[in-house]
Amino acid sequence: MSKRRLNAITESLQRQQHSVIETGRRSELFGTHVFNEDRMLQYLTKDAHRSVNEAIFAGTKIDRKIADQVAEAMKAWAISMGATHYTHWFQPLTGSTAEKHDAFFDLRTDGRAVERFGGDQLVQQEPDASSFPSGGIRNTFEARGYTAWDPTSPAFIYGTTLCIPTIFVSYTGEALDNKAPLLRALHAVDIAATAVAKYFDKNVSKVHATLGWEQEFFLVDKALANSRPDIVLTGRTLIGHLAAKGQQLSDHYFGVIPTRAVNFMRELEKECIQLGIPLKTRHNEVAPNQFELAPVFEEANLSVDHNLLLMDIMEKVADRHNFKVLFHEKPFAGINGSGKHNNWSLATDTGVNLLSPGSTPMKNLQFLTFFVNTIKAVDTYEELLRSSIASASNDHRLGANEAPPAIISIFIGTQLSHVLDELEGVSKGKLSPEEKTELKLNVVGKIPEILLDNTDRNRTSPFAFTGNKFEMRAVGSKTNSAKPMMILNTIVANQLKEFKKEVDALIDKKKLKKDEAVFNVLREYIKSSKRIRFDGDGYSEEWEKEAKKRKLSNNKDTPSAVRVLTSKKSLELFKGLEVMNSTEVEARQEVELETYILQTQIEGRVLNDLVYSNIIPAAIEYQNKIIKNVLGLKEIYGAAHKKLSEGHLTLIEQISEHMVVIKRNTDDMTNARKIANNLKDLNKKAFAYCDNVRPYFDKIRYHCDKLEQLIDDQSWPLTKYRELLYIK
Ligand code: ADP
Ligand code: MG
Repeated sequence: MSKRRLNAITESLQRQQHSVIETGRRSELFGTHVFNEDRMLQYLTKDAHRSVNEAIFAGTKIDRKIADQVAEAMKAWAISMGATHYTHWFQPLTGSTAEKHDAFFDLRTDGRAVERFGGDQLVQQEPDASSFPSGGIRNTFEARGYTAWDPTSPAFIYGTTLCIPTIFVSYTGEALDNKAPLLRALHAVDIAATAVAKYFDKNVSKVHATLGWEQEFFLVDKALANSRPDIVLTGRTLIGHLAAKGQQLSDHYFGVIPTRAVNFMRELEKECIQLGIPLKTRHNEVAPNQFELAPVFEEANLSVDHNLLLMDIMEKVADRHNFKVLFHEKPFAGINGSGKHNNWSLATDTGVNLLSPGSTPMKNLQFLTFFVNTIKAVDTYEELLRSSIASASNDHRLGANEAPPAIISIFIGTQLSHVLDELEGVSKGKLSPEEKTELKLNVVGKIPEILLDNTDRNRTSPFAFTGNKFEMRAVGSKTNSAKPMMILNTIVANQLKEFKKEVDALIDKKKLKKDEAVFNVLREYIKSSKRIRFDGDGYSEEWEKEAKKRKLSNNKDTPSAVRVLTSKKSLELFKGLEVMNSTEVEARQEVELETYILQTQIEGRVLNDLVYSNIIPAAIEYQNKIIKNVLGLKEIYGAAHKKLSEGHLTLIEQISEHMVVIKRNTDDMTNARKIANNLKDLNKKAFAYCDNVRPYFDKIRYHCDKLEQLIDDQSWPLTKYRELLYIK
């Protein structure tokens, strides 16, 4: 056995459990490390408190004087909590978070030391961020980037650092991050949804999008994970034969959570609760060593921040428990990968979930309005929604018969389908009194009862209605949810705006009553968005064919999926709602392609290294052992050795055959990479990586995995699936 593999296994087996001390009530711990409402009441003057709350709820600007007061208060609180540094915490287009710590500590001109943190430092910072991907924005405008305080997501203390959530924009105003466009999309959906919600309740003055994510991940022993160069550098295994036991017994799913994993989760949950991340649910997932965590849902911007923060903290806490967390969508071949379901809805400031049926026909008409408009929005922009979750790693999941297919469709269940069918039959224009009664009492009125026993679930659907929210299931486990949330809220905002226009026109010009007008427009939407509704098996070949007939997009890889971002229709959408201008959209497309290319390039290089420095040497070593044995047999038995060494010779040949194919394909892959690297056009380069480089990965892997089965365990250099997934 290679020394590295042996050491890793020995180390993992000798581990002591990292014990966790129980820490009292979660509700008392909740938010203790957050500059939240309680802290503001305690530390801020009345004026400053009001000003911050206005900024949070009405989006007003905070003036400099007030900012100074808020900074002073934050500093006092942070220092009392033991913090020494502060940082603007932001989301560059890398997909994760970034931070640069500065000490409160400063020197006065007279050389005396003080702790300083003022409004200027709170409101705006200029990190030297020239190395973040900007998709050419910074070159185009020769602009530097700065970070600016987002008061809607409260500051928090992690370790000894005060973290201030910020947006990251260029001096010319272009967003260089994922948060700024999300905030603009959330603003757009607030305006559009509030206007529509007012049809049903005049008291509504704000609507916010809600998000509750479900985060899946793998836990692997740190020593074992570190012994695999592919896991260390790419987050997944590029080689590895499936263990004899996989997930076929379903004995992991919802099973007893292993003690070591529970200890990790308890410590993690404690840190999260202190930071205001309302973690609620934890359970084993389908694959061995795969788990899921889910919080109580929150306002979408805050929820996105909390998910990113969770992922950061998970890595740190896991390290203490000698685990490595794998967020990659497909770390192991042959068993399930990980996703991050995004549960989404819209809620009013009057406390109503707009996607939850109510107790009166009017409430249900409101529910139907938002329900049908969401369906219509997804139908109109299905390809754009698909683009928001595209990545080299998520490409492994979508369409691989475990996660939803790459085709976006909506599952609403049979009962709600019946309701929509009935609404479709409503006559045009004015409704007769009988029709109205029938509709209100028997169709719309009955929705809550229907939904109570609406228990059918469809795990193959990428976008499913689950009783009082939509669940977007195709999001990747690594994906920053800001991306799909930005697109989803933008397309729904656009749709609701359109809806309002149409309804108002019917009321003004055709003199229809409000509910008649609403029914009329909804009926047309139900008809025109039918193709997006699909309740069947999303994995089946028939669905692929059917979806093609319905002209739904089926983009199986990232280069194909992100093309739509810069279509005329998309650019107009973003511009119309002031979510992004064309430069910002083009920049994002460029960054997605660049990231795709780089990730694929790294995987190609790692595979090349593994083949030449691990797999082939191991194969030769074992083959030599057999050759030596054959020669020995010949020495002893002379010509009679042939019968005895028949099996040996076959084995020698098999090993050689696999090695030949592996070497040839690896060299061909390297050539394909060179050709791709020489392409200047980013789009062509991404397709070259996708179509000409990536296909070699599976071919090479197939033969390496065959060798793993032929070669003796002692000689195999890479830690095996059996060890990675089962050593506890
Ligand atoms: P499931 O049956 O899918 O497990 P749960 O009720 O457990 O459903 O919820 C799963 C996720 O959905 C949780 O993260 C939860 O916070 C979230 N969720 C529930 N209601 C809403 C809502 N109105 N808006 C957004 N997310 C929600
Ligand atoms: Mg769910």
